[in-house]
Amino acid sequence: MKKMLFVFNPNSGKARIKNKLVEIVQIFSNAGYDVTVYPTKARMDGYKYMIENMHNYDIVTCSGGDGTLNETVSAVLSCSDKKMPIGYIPSGSTNDFANSLSIPKDMELAAEYIVEGSLFSCDIGMVNKEKYFCYVAAFGAFTEVSYLTPQYLKNMLGHQAYILEAAKSLAALKPYYIRVTADGHKVEGEYVYGMISNTESVGGVKGLAGSSVDLQDGLFEVTLVKKISGPMEFQQLVTAFLTQNYDESGSIFSIKAKHIEVECGEGVNWTLDGEFGGEHRNITFDVVPGAVEFMMKQKTK
Ligand SMILES: [Mg+2]
Repeated sequence: MKKMLFVFNPNSGKARIKNKLVEIVQIFSNAGYDVTVYPTKARMDGYKYMIENMHNYDIVTCSGGDGTLNETVSAVLSCSDKKMPIGYIPSGSTNDFANSLSIPKDMELAAEYIVEGSLFSCDIGMVNKEKYFCYVAAFGAFTEVSYLTPQYLKNMLGHQAYILEAAKSLAALKPYYIRVTADGHKVEGEYVYGMISNTESVGGVKGLAGSSVDLQDGLFEVTLVKKISGPMEFQQLVTAFLTQNYDESGSIFSIKAKHIEVECGEGVNWTLDGEFGGEHRNITFDVVPGAVEFMMKQKTK
C-alpha cells in the first residue's frame, strides 16, 4: 500500500477544511493510500514534522495557504535522499500558485486530481542560496499587503482584503534606489515595487508579470515598477498592467532571468510567498529548475 502523509493547516482560509476532511481522506483511502493525517499547530510545526517523518512515506500532501505550501516544499527539498512527490489542496484566501498550477479551489476535486494525477516538475526559487520560495519574492506595495493584512481579516474578506490594502498603500509608496543585475543585464533607479516571480497571479491579481509565464522554463519574471510622480504616470502604470504592454509604458521594467542580484543602500523589506522574508540590503535569487514534483492533473498549455 502506498503511504501518504497528509499535513494540513486547520485554520487556513476560514477553516474550510473542517467540513471536507472526511471526504478528502476517503478519496485518498479509496485510491489505495494508507493515510497519516497531521494538523499543524503553529508556524513551522508542519515543516518540522515533515522533516522528521517524511522519509516513511511515498507522497506528502499538504493543505493550507502559501505558508503551508512553502513549508512543505522546503521540507521536501531539505530531504535529499529522494524527490518526494507533493500533493497540494489549497485553502488560503488567494491561492496564487495553485491557480498557476491549475489546481481547483474545490478541495475534494483537488484531492481527486492528486490521486488521478501525474508528476509535474516545477521550478522553485532560492534566496541568498539558503532559503526557498515557491512563486514570488517581492518588495513594495502588494508585498506589504500580504503580510500586514491580519489572518482574521484575510479570512473575513478574502481577496477583497488584498485589493483594499493595496489601494491604500498605493497612496504612500516609498521608493528605493536599487541596482538590479539580472543575468548580467543591469538597471538602476528609484523603484516602488519589485518582484521576482514564477506565477501567473500575485495577491490574487492575474497578469502582473506578463502573459508568457512558464513554471518549467528555468526562468523568473523580474518586474520592477518605477517611482510614480503624478497622476499621469499613475495612469500609465495602470494602463500598462491592464494591457500587459510593458515596453511602451516606461514605468515598468520587465525581463526574464535565472540569477538576479538586488542591491540597495538601505534595508528593504522583502516578502517570500506573501510572508515576511526579512530586511535586506543585498539579496540574490536563483531558479532551481525542476526542483519539486507536484502530483496533479497536467495543465494544458
Ligand atoms: Mg518560469
